[in-house]
Amino acid sequence: MERIEQGPLLLATSARGRVTAGRIAAACDEINPHPCAFSTEAEQGCDEALRASYRAGLPCVVLGEVGAVAVTLAPLLDARGDHAGAVVVVAEDGSAVVPLLGAARGADALAERIAEVLGVRAAITAVEPSRPRPGRLAVVGLGPGAHALMAPAARLELDRAQDIIGYNTYVEMAGPFRPDQVIHGSDNRCEMDRARAAFALAAEGRHVVVVSSGDPGVFAMATAVLEALDEHAEPAWHAVELAVVPGISAAQAAAARIGAPLGHDFCILSLSDNLKPWSQIVHRLELAARADLVIACYNPISRARPWQLGEALTVLRGVRDADTPVVLGRDVGRPAERVRVTTLGALDPQEVDMRTVVIVGSSQTRHFSAPEGRDWVYTPRWYPQPAEQD
Ligand code: SAH
Repeated sequence: MERIEQGPLLLATSARGRVTAGRIAAACDEINPHPCAFSTEAEQGCDEALRASYRAGLPCVVLGEVGAVAVTLAPLLDARGDHAGAVVVVAEDGSAVVPLLGAARGADALAERIAEVLGVRAAITAVEPSRPRPGRLAVVGLGPGAHALMAPAARLELDRAQDIIGYNTYVEMAGPFRPDQVIHGSDNRCEMDRARAAFALAAEGRHVVVVSSGDPGVFAMATAVLEALDEHAEPAWHAVELAVVPGISAAQAAAARIGAPLGHDFCILSLSDNLKPWSQIVHRLELAARADLVIACYNPISRARPWQLGEALTVLRGVRDADTPVVLGRDVGRPAERVRVTTLGALDPQEVDMRTVVIVGSSQTRHFSAPEGRDWVYTPRWYPQPAEQD
C-alpha cells in the first residue's frame, strides 16, 4: 500500500461536516484541515477544490455524500484515472468512511486511518492477495523427564504449538496435548527427516515444536534442525521464526541428585560411534582423562554397541585411579529413577544401559556417605596448590 506523502485536503460544506472534519484533523497529524465555508458559493468552491486536488493527483477527504462527490468528479473520470488523486468520502456525521477512488494510491490506507479515528469500519472493497504468514519453529528441551524440571519457556512453546514433532517417548513426556494439536510422533531415529518435516510445516505458516529430551542442543534435535536449514536454500525456510529453548541435560540432572560431581571442569562425550569413528572417541577419552576433567558419558551402551563401554573403561583405567568415583544416573527425573555411586575399578558395563548417564570423576572428585546412608559425590572447586617454595 502506498504511503500518502502529502497531507490530504479535508473538505466540508456543512457545520456538521466541519465538526467531523475537525475530529479527523485533530487525530491525524498528516491531514491538513481546510474546511470550506458553509454557503452555496462555498459549496461550489468546494467542488472546484475537489476537482483541482483530484487532477493534481493529491489525496482528498470529502465530508459529504458519495453520490454528490461522484457527480462532481464524473467529468474527470477517464483514462487518466491512474494518475489522479485518492478520494475518500466520509459521512458528515462520521458514521461511514468510503475510499471512493484510488484505493491502491492510498485511499484505502487513508480511509482505514480515518475510520479508526471515528471508531467505525472503512468500507474497503479491494481484496488484498493473501500472503502466507511465516510460521514458527521452536526446538524445545524437555529436561530429563519430570515436568517440574522443564523450563516455563518450553511449556509456553508446547502450549502455543499447532504441531508437535518428536520421538514417541519424548512426545509422550511432553503431553498431554489438546485435541486441536497435531502430534507427529515417530519411532524412527532419522533426526534429519524430522527436522525437514518440521521446516516444511513451519514454512506453511504453522507453529511447530520439535521436542528433545534434556537439552535440545546436546546430542539432539537443535543441531539436526540447523543442519537442515543450512543445507536448504529455500527462502520460505529461512523466513520461519526459529527458536531453541534450552533444557536441563541428563548430566546436570544426575549430578544434582548425587551432589555436585560437575563442580569443577568437566566435559560431556557421547560414546556412540554411529556418527563418528570409534578411534576419535578413544582419543578424546584419553585426552580428557589426562586433562583430569570429570567426564560425563552419554549413549554409553546399546544392543547395537555392546563392547564400546568396556573398551572406554579400559582407556580410562589406564589413566585414572581405580577408586575414582563413578556416578550412574538411570532414568533421572522419571518414575524409575535410580542414581548410585561405584568406582572406576568396580564398574561393570552390564550395570549400564542406554538410559543411563555415566559420570566419571576426576582425581579430585570425593565420595562420602552421610550417617543415615545417603551418598554424596562432589568435585571441589579448587585444586591443591603446589607447596610454596622458599
Ligand atoms: N539431549 C539429551 C541427550 C540425548 S543423548 C540431554 O541433554 O540430556 C541420549 C543419552 O542421554 C542417553 O543414552 C543417556 O546417556 C542420556 N540421558 C538422557 N536422558 C536421561 C535421563 N533422564 N537419565 C539418564 N540419562 C539420560
